[in-house]
Amino acid sequence: MSANPRILLDADALRANLARVWALAPQAKVLAVVKADAYGHGLVPVARALAGADGFAVARVGEGIELRRAGIGHPVVVLGGFLDRGEAEACGRHRLDPVIHDPAQSSWLPEDVRPWIKFDSGMHRLGLDEAAFRRIVSRLAPRRPVLMTHLACADETDNPATAEQLRRFGRLCEGTAFEQSCANSAAILAWPQSHGDWVRPGLMLYGISPFPGRSGAELGLRPAMAFRARLIGVRELPAGEAVGYGGAWVARRPTRLGVVAAGYGDGYPREVKPGTPVWIGGRRVPVVGRVSMDLLTVDLTDHPGIAPGAEVELWGPNLPVEEIAACAGTIPYTLVCGITARVARIET
Ligand code: PLP
Repeated sequence: MSANPRILLDADALRANLARVWALAPQAKVLAVVKADAYGHGLVPVARALAGADGFAVARVGEGIELRRAGIGHPVVVLGGFLDRGEAEACGRHRLDPVIHDPAQSSWLPEDVRPWIKFDSGMHRLGLDEAAFRRIVSRLAPRRPVLMTHLACADETDNPATAEQLRRFGRLCEGTAFEQSCANSAAILAWPQSHGDWVRPGLMLYGISPFPGRSGAELGLRPAMAFRARLIGVRELPAGEAVGYGGAWVARRPTRLGVVAAGYGDGYPREVKPGTPVWIGGRRVPVVGRVSMDLLTVDLTDHPGIAPGAEVELWGPNLPVEEIAACAGTIPYTLVCGITARVARIET
């Protein structure tokens, strides 16, 4: 039995979450966002599981090339666009459709790619201003571009910024025959007026909620990742003994301490607050002491039956990653993207 932590990818859950997108946005095509190694779930296995999507979005040209090398033939959109002529040529060779967010890009645009032209409707990250957008849309019109924008606050369902961004984008695209795209996961779930011709779900495909305080399960989603490790040691400590680096946690009672082979070197966040649960043998067990690179410690005093070798879920179907992210003072995106290369990826 290996002590190595691993993630298990549930391909059925991915497909069920895609079906949830179809149900919410039945008129729209789906551009499944698989950048950053499919949010840590594994780029190629996720793309294969989501073959029912209409296309894939990556952030970097290299990620798109990886999809092509794996034989994925769908449209692939490079959200980060390309930066220089070399990358533009690579887009052409590999049929990767770039996002145009800078006027310079349009002069290097290779043949046989379909540009996605991005308007900055208020997020002020990537995107063209109104004048440049109009100019480039009319210059690239023969290529049937997709017109897009990105929403900054769609996860805040009462924030008026989203309606304002949609209004600006809608006004600019009025009367155009070209396809439009605005919606990330939060907008697919909460802003039906944003769906347009292409929706761009990322997080929800992995079964994770984009809304703070709400779980994926509440939204009809199934977690696609289980992050699992093993209990590799158990020791008895008298009251008063300190545990781990800095002796940051001190046993207040005679304690049965469990040692789990997972740490921040695997992507488990060091910042979790004391008492953050892991799931062992059907029970929630609290983390105690500082998380170190390869190990973390848990208090098993109330669970005498749990023995070394037991499987530990760090997050997954039994323990929502949204909850662990809240315990670490972060968002679930950073946890799933932070799984490190030494963690094996296993498809179930
Ligand atoms: N569209 C763009 C342009 C993005 O950058 C992202 C992710 O950051 C998405 C869609 C998907 O967002 P989410 O994972 O919140 O669904």
